[in-house]
Amino acid sequence: TRTKDGAEIQRLANLNLVSELDVALSVKAKGIGLYRTEFPFIVRSTFPTEEEQYLGYRRVLEQMQGRPVVFRTLDIGGDKALSYFPVQHESNPFLGLRALRFSLRNPQIFKQQLRALLRAAHGNPQAKVMFPLVASLDEFQAARDLARICQEELQREGVPNRMPDLGVMIELPSAVVMAPELAAAADFLSIGTNDLIQYLLAVDRTNDEVAAWFAPHHPAVLRSLMRIVEAAEKAGKPVSLCGNLGADPAMLPFLLGIGLRTLSMDSMAIPAVQRRIEQIDYGQARLQARRMLAFGRTDEVADYLKTLEAPR
Ligand code: PEP
Ligand code: MG
Repeated sequence: TRTKDGAEIQRLANLNLVSELDVALSVKAKGIGLYRTEFPFIVRSTFPTEEEQYLGYRRVLEQMQGRPVVFRTLDIGGDKALSYFPVQHESNPFLGLRALRFSLRNPQIFKQQLRALLRAAHGNPQAKVMFPLVASLDEFQAARDLARICQEELQREGVPNRMPDLGVMIELPSAVVMAPELAAAADFLSIGTNDLIQYLLAVDRTNDEVAAWFAPHHPAVLRSLMRIVEAAEKAGKPVSLCGNLGADPAMLPFLLGIGLRTLSMDSMAIPAVQRRIEQIDYGQARLQARRMLAFGRTDEVADYLKTLEAPR
């Protein structure tokens, strides 16, 4: 998809289950920017074996026919529980044993998934892997070390494999602050705005009572996004956005204006986003983004966004 003045924007699809691939292909997604691999775990009654995971991942890659697929490792915990893996009661599950923390705490489960991913990546250069809810460089390195151990094991066993690009999801305020170091260490960054907004603004993304406070256009969110993109550019690493924000037509001028070129979203949102991108003048979007970054009040941003609304 190109903007009015010809800047190329990649639109990728988010995927929860393999059965949704047809929809992604029907809207001409250029790849999968976020495959939430926990969903195949959640819909089962027992853990999938390494072999079952490997076959599932390979199937996604085959169906995408050489287009990029970013596998997000398990994001269990928070509001996503496995019926067959009891965990201790937590009074704040979103601040609890979630995502990469869960995987690092359960290395046998994590290693099985990493082995399956490394095997699926063999012969599939377009396969990438990213870790959810990374809070520190230490955590990213621990995850990468485990991937390297898995690779050594597979080599010893004579099992074909390949180390894919490893990325960091930026979903936490700590990761925004550490974005320069994370960008330098990782192969790519992907911004998860659903969690980033939740944790930056301390607003439960699942609680309707506080939905009014879940403000994607809050100046702190806008400035965080800018800092992440700048960090990636400085480190010379690709950065994409895979939260729901990428599917919000009103926010597109800002997202493009700060330099984002790859957006991943629910397949159903792709056609409307494509139409909006085609109306945007990239040069103008840069100026509009700069203007938005200067506002101190959320209201001011909201009022300004109204002036940018697409012509009907
Ligand atoms: C996000 O947090 O923005 C994201 C893409 O991941 P999920 O919605 O699966 O938490
Ligand atoms: Mg998330």
